[in-house]
Amino acid sequence: MLDKLAERIATLEESATLQMAALVRELKAKGEDIIDLTLGEPDFDTPIHIKEAAKSAIDMGFTKYTPVPGYLDLRKAIVEKIKRDNHLTYTNDQIVVSTGAKQSIANTVLSLINPGDEVIIPAPYWVSYSAITHLAEGKVVKVSANIENDFKITPAQLEEVITPKSKLFIFSSPCNPTGAVYTMAELEALAVVFRKHPSIIILSDEIYEYINFIGVHVSIATLTDMYDRTVIVNGFSKGFAMTGWRLGYIAAPLWISKACTKMQGQFTSGTCSIAQKAGETAMTGDMQPTKDMCAAYQKRRDIVYELLKKIAGVKTNLPTGAFYFFPDISSFFGRTDGQSIIKNSNDMSMYLLSDAKVSTVSGDAFGDDNCIRFSYATSEEKLRMAMSRIEQSLSKLK
Ligand code: PMP
Ligand code: GLU
Repeated sequence: MLDKLAERIATLEESATLQMAALVRELKAKGEDIIDLTLGEPDFDTPIHIKEAAKSAIDMGFTKYTPVPGYLDLRKAIVEKIKRDNHLTYTNDQIVVSTGAKQSIANTVLSLINPGDEVIIPAPYWVSYSAITHLAEGKVVKVSANIENDFKITPAQLEEVITPKSKLFIFSSPCNPTGAVYTMAELEALAVVFRKHPSIIILSDEIYEYINFIGVHVSIATLTDMYDRTVIVNGFSKGFAMTGWRLGYIAAPLWISKACTKMQGQFTSGTCSIAQKAGETAMTGDMQPTKDMCAAYQKRRDIVYELLKKIAGVKTNLPTGAFYFFPDISSFFGRTDGQSIIKNSNDMSMYLLSDAKVSTVSGDAFGDDNCIRFSYATSEEKLRMAMSRIEQSLSKLK
């Protein structure tokens, strides 16, 4: 039967993050004591005022199909948010609300990429950028950033991979999986290169905007000449702890927002009415819960960083945003626990799952096989225990 499937699904990579999450769920159901650091998902509940808004949306009858790009009131609230936080002006038509930022990315890539177009993606990258590019039959051009440069690419590296076929550049800042945050100066240095190549569109994934420990979030769209060629992707999952609500959006040049609306009109239509009304309250309401969550992540980041630095053989950057560590564990490659040899990041992730009972995601899914990713969006107690278990398991590798 498998040979009856379309090539596009047969060759599609399964989301490594979701695959590991499913495996962990299965093991936990069997009673295994796993500390789950797999998914990038806030452990906090959605703030109460947002939940209340959803409840009253149901009572008020917001239960019908919605306009394809989202309720006008929500799009207006997003326009105001972007003005307030990012100092950028958009019209309501430039905003398209989708079923999660993941769909926003898919809409954008499928709307822009023809077979053979090149999509430049700095690695480490979030798993779905490459998979969605492959679905669109685009060619992924990977630019590897190294840990010594805080996993950020340099302008020279960008310049080197640009060809006449380069169509799109996709990156996240704050970054999943590395936690790296590009400063204004670093973005400006990349913008200097982009100005020489005006046909390249930039997809700037800013979903971790509010989980930023350096205090300033800069959107590349604010830099000279970048607005008309940047698609900002953002969403509610991380900053407002709303992963299950499935709500994300783009702010884009009108020709792209129109294309994405057309695309979405044939795939999903407008996203859930109730989630949209909740999102409107998130955009306009009290930001204190978001600030409190960010402070908690920063405290956990500090705790984990101190513990991780002490583990022999592990190399890490200091993440300045998001809620992930992406340590380099390649010094263990070739070593063994007496049963099997650790040859790559997948072996390491599976070893830590079976020996330390700590779940991580292998780095190769993020374009860097020297590393593994773990999320620290969980309690301090679990994080301390996880680091101690990892240290013990790694010390057994000879
Ligand atoms: N971009 C990045 C960098 C992410 O980590 C995620 C994962 N949640 C998404 C986009 C998609 O988010 P969602 O679909 O939940 O809005
Ligand atoms: N973005 C999250 C992560 O990287 C959620 C999983 C997913 O959507 O792939 O873990």
